[in-house]
Amino acid sequence: MTCDRFSLNGKTALVTGASSGLGHHFAKVLSSAGANVVIGARRIDRLSHLADEIAQDSGKALPVMMDVTQKDSIKEAFDKAEHEFGHVDILINNAGIGDPGDFLSMSEESWDNMMDTNLKSVWRLSQEAANRLIKHEKSGSIINIASILGLRVAPKLSHYATAKAGVIQLTKSLGLELARHQIRVNAIAPGYIRTEMNDAFFSSEPGQDYIRQKMPMRRLGHVDELVGPLLLLASDAGSFMTGSVITVDGGQMVNAL
Ligand code: NDP
Repeated sequence: MTCDRFSLNGKTALVTGASSGLGHHFAKVLSSAGANVVIGARRIDRLSHLADEIAQDSGKALPVMMDVTQKDSIKEAFDKAEHEFGHVDILINNAGIGDPGDFLSMSEESWDNMMDTNLKSVWRLSQEAANRLIKHEKSGSIINIASILGLRVAPKLSHYATAKAGVIQLTKSLGLELARHQIRVNAIAPGYIRTEMNDAFFSSEPGQDYIRQKMPMRRLGHVDELVGPLLLLASDAGSFMTGSVITVDGGQMVNAL
């Protein structure tokens, strides 16, 4: 009975940035909870491979080439999703870039690209998803993958931390504005989880030192450790949650000064 509330049977979920890392894992998890999944990113070859993996596990996945910085590309992805599965109930705004760089030498291009990919994309996709849900008179859940760097700062990530802080404020604002339409908007703020975005750094000696000296649990997080919050927010188990930010960081936010 209690576990039924976590079921996503009959739902459709769209995951951005599903070609690697967290998004790739989220797509599989949402599928195993019963959802049809629409998997978006620019590297379509990787998405096709993921769709095959999901099909082998008896799930249904639709790979769609999507650039989250392009409005037309987003619209097209939603059109394809609706054609294949009907309206999108759950949107996971996960696509993002790292691109570290010193503030003093950072180009405007790097700043703009960060804001466009990591922040404005969340606004674009959420608006598309919410307007379609309202048109279909359906409730829905939007989950934004923020970061603890939206709450704290780190060197060489002024643009990233600013964009993720924006994602957190946008989550709260949309939680408020969309509540009357029964569309919930929440965020997960992960600490460091090893993926392609940070693998090179954490494999290096400075990265290993960081883990030993700065990570309270003396280890990185694993993608599986985000599954509980993801399913909670996506499903009816979180039906009275909106505007929330769930931190999953092995204690990084409460690290000693
Ligand atoms: P990865 O680099 O492994 O994955 C990033 C994904 O984003 C890829 O699938 C990439 O696909 C997609 N992407 C990037 N730009 C675009 C674009 N313009 N259009 C569409 N898709 C795009 O990183 P992670 O899995 O680690 O990161 C996922 C999210 O989690 C990000 O938002 C990140 O900021 C956040 N996060 C990650 C943490 C970590 O420690 N790993 C910690 C906190 C937050 P493609 O290149 O094929 O388009």
